[in-house]
Amino acid sequence: MNRKHNISVITSIVSGSVVVLYDNYGRPLLHLRLSVTQRCNYRCMYCHHEGEIWKPSRELSPMEMRSIVKACMDLGIKKIKLTGGEPLIREDIVEIVETLSSLEPEDLAITTNGYYLEELALPLKKAGLMRINVSLPSLDKKVYETVTGVDGLDKVLRGLKKALDIGLKPVKVNMVILKDINEGEVWDMIKLASQMKFILQLIELEPVDMPSYLYRDLHADLDSIEREISSRGVLVNRRRYMHNRPQYRIGGAVVEIVKPVHNPDFCLHCTRIRVSSDGKLYTCLMDSSNHFDLNKALESNDPVENIKEIIIKANRARKPYFMSRCDIHG
Ligand code: SAM
Repeated sequence: MNRKHNISVITSIVSGSVVVLYDNYGRPLLHLRLSVTQRCNYRCMYCHHEGEIWKPSRELSPMEMRSIVKACMDLGIKKIKLTGGEPLIREDIVEIVETLSSLEPEDLAITTNGYYLEELALPLKKAGLMRINVSLPSLDKKVYETVTGVDGLDKVLRGLKKALDIGLKPVKVNMVILKDINEGEVWDMIKLASQMKFILQLIELEPVDMPSYLYRDLHADLDSIEREISSRGVLVNRRRYMHNRPQYRIGGAVVEIVKPVHNPDFCLHCTRIRVSSDGKLYTCLMDSSNHFDLNKALESNDPVENIKEIIIKANRARKPYFMSRCDIHG
């Protein structure tokens, strides 16, 4: 590491032996969102593809992911979420989890559409997976199929039950709210969350990788939903290092509201970097064009140290999205 980079680390907060990088806006860097594939067995009408809007040249191997995660962990990024595409269609997903969990991150999670969860939940847990997020846009078979392109609701519900039964904890369900499509199902979903004991995340649609007419048609305002939830429930938490998201308790359910659009508070509490399935590091879902290629570093003799240098450089470039671009989606 050269002198310049040393200074960057020193100016980060050091607590005990743990180094945490802070950006120029005082935001710590704590989370890695690592895409393991761009392939998917679903065709969700709203999918942002994690901002990976290019055709991937290849897919990272488990050992390459290990180097990336090791570099992250050396710099204080200890919470790892695997995403995609659909992570569970990687034939070596269990090996990936095993390889990464051997580094003992503080958190190792996967977000999945849940289609292969029934078969894979147990092997993944045995490999070291700690928890899981399952996308569930509807409890109505027809609506589910319309939204995802797959007649998979029953199978996904079985996978969800399996994940809960074997003790992946917590299990979270991600429901992207879509105007006139699943808006009316929020309270059924809250009821199910209470019965099955998963945390429900209600997510505002983000305008990434979709034509503006589609976004206008599908985007639902979460403010009125949140008002109703807050009037019937109690605010129990604000996840400061996760976009300051509010969590409410309603009866037996915990419901988290994820409102990324036109929300400076969300960006100001962003603590993530992202790596694409073909090894490009980027700092914001809304702006993946500005990426840092890790491939040369991965091929080098000392991939971990070289990736660390790139992460430190990328951290300096992190900027809350709203500060430069919040007006472009009108
Ligand atoms: N296939 C996996 C899944 O379904 O979780 C991983 C990839 S998916 C892109 C990751 C998460 O992003 C899912 O929870 C999905 O609901 C959410 N998501 C996808 N497109 C979105 C959008 N346009 N706005 C907000 N969230 C979105």
